[in-house]
Amino acid sequence: MADYREKFWRLRLEACRKALERNHFAAWVVPSVREARDLFREQILPNLTPAPRTASWGDSQTLHATGILDEIRRNPEIELIETFDPAVPRETLIERRRQALLVDLFLTGSSAVTEAGQLVNLDMIGNRIGGITFGPRHVVLFIGRNKLTGNIEEAMRRIKQVSAPLNAMRHEGFKLPCAATGRCMDCDSPQRICNTWSITEKSYPKGRIRVILINEDHGL
Ligand code: SF4
Repeated sequence: MADYREKFWRLRLEACRKALERNHFAAWVVPSVREARDLFREQILPNLTPAPRTASWGDSQTLHATGILDEIRRNPEIELIETFDPAVPRETLIERRRQALLVDLFLTGSSAVTEAGQLVNLDMIGNRIGGITFGPRHVVLFIGRNKLTGNIEEAMRRIKQVSAPLNAMRHEGFKLPCAATGRCMDCDSPQRICNTWSITEKSYPKGRIRVILINEDHGL
């Protein structure tokens, strides 16, 4: 029997892909993170011009699941700026995240994508939003089907009520009220992870932002 869930999400993701293309993003739908990695390796990376010599990334569990970062680490032609090494002092990591805003290739995920083909993100520091918005020549986003929402309001509600508390729980070092209650308390904590929103309605220039929609649940 056909997997009706796969079909349900494939149809919705395909409609989202078309909306993203109308908004000047380049977009694909793939069945799994393995196909996302293959698409990136075989079709996207070889066709980037000029060929990227530097790369970096913004935190994304979906990106990690593809294994692409490890492939880039092994690629002698690309220098990867590591922005999340736990052995490196935080001040150094912040400086690297500043440098990451000028790389040739920036990889990350998105907090949400709407059916109308808009990207919605909420950051603590802003390095992920910054890289998506301006600086890196090429941006590639990996987005699981669970990030698809009906509209911007639904996306913002989901991010604040689901993604952010889960993210707070994931970072055990942060003492945030939502990690204790499972609900956003609109806190004033200096460790607050919800500081800057971005809504990307269209890619400028056309095709600068590439979006790979994955027919699996990934990320928060
Ligand atoms: S605003 Fe504060 S309480 Fe609300 S989700 Fe963000 S970190 Fe948690």
